Amino acid sequence: MTRCPSCRARDFRPTERCQALGRPNALECSHCGLIAERGALQADANGSDGASLARSSAWIAGEVRSVLAERLEDEVFALSADDPVFLESYALRTLALSKTLAAIPADAAQWNALKAPYTKLPAQAKLVPLGDIEPVPVSVIILCRPGDVSALTSLVERLAPCFADIVLLIDGEAIAPGMTQPGGPRLAARPLAGHFAAQRNAGQDLALYDWVLQLDADEELAQSALGSVGHVAAYADQAGTLSVGLLRENRVDRRLSDLFPDVQYRLNRKAVRYAGAVHERPDLPRGWRDSMIAPNLVIEHRLSRAHVEARSKAYEAMSPGHGRTFEAGDLLRPYRP
Ligand SMILES: [Zn+2]
Repeated sequence: MTRCPSCRARDFRPTERCQALGRPNALECSHCGLIAERGALQADANGSDGASLARSSAWIAGEVRSVLAERLEDEVFALSADDPVFLESYALRTLALSKTLAAIPADAAQWNALKAPYTKLPAQAKLVPLGDIEPVPVSVIILCRPGDVSALTSLVERLAPCFADIVLLIDGEAIAPGMTQPGGPRLAARPLAGHFAAQRNAGQDLALYDWVLQLDADEELAQSALGSVGHVAAYADQAGTLSVGLLRENRVDRRLSDLFPDVQYRLNRKAVRYAGAVHERPDLPRGWRDSMIAPNLVIEHRLSRAHVEARSKAYEAMSPGHGRTFEAGDLLRPYRP
């Protein structure tokens, strides 16, 4: 199965939406809502020899990508009825962001479709560079342990030109003498006590601004994302979206893992609360409808094979049945395009 040309997930499935749209042979990306004809995504795996299968698969998947690329070159995005792909406003927003563009709905009906997905209305939107959206300020909260503070200096220095409010939230009772540096980030301390959502919520409360990006000590914001976060937050605000998912690249012993895009909903309105002791995620009034994926924002996550194996066991102990030990397998498998 090919990866989604928009969000890069590898999870196309037949859905009721495909049926309702009169596309019985189409598949829907479970991550971003892009719908594409089955034949345009996946070559017939039966009977072909490897070489011709590879050729036809590349050609067909390339056709979907080229149709989308062509539509994205127009000033106003609109699909033709015979295109092998279907997007309404909500899915188009994700696709536009994957090219660092913003799709501005063409009229009131398109705005409504964006705010209350999914409708059957094909997307029509003006395409502008994402940079045209006036950015809003974003606070950054980094969850860490006392021993991480000095090692985080370089990350904070990279973030500082783009973010006026950076907080290190330390898992501990108090800030130790010597941790605070003049001109450095704000520091706060609170015991994690095995509950990640509670720690993230404490981080939300510490933020000065209306939008908050949360990172962990072993994560970085990709260079390409540094200058875009405030623009994406402002773009989300236009439709009343509360939570933005970033793609996370897990690098196990430096090698990119197949667990990708591993969407992490870490850019949120300050009022958003997380839920879940482990694998915490935002608790949103309308569920996924209050969220969006921004494929142009990437988190880089460094971890070791030994850590993956140990962490999986530790999570299971903290929250039996929720350790998601199966995820360790995907994490340890090298990335497949
Ligand atoms: Zn997708």
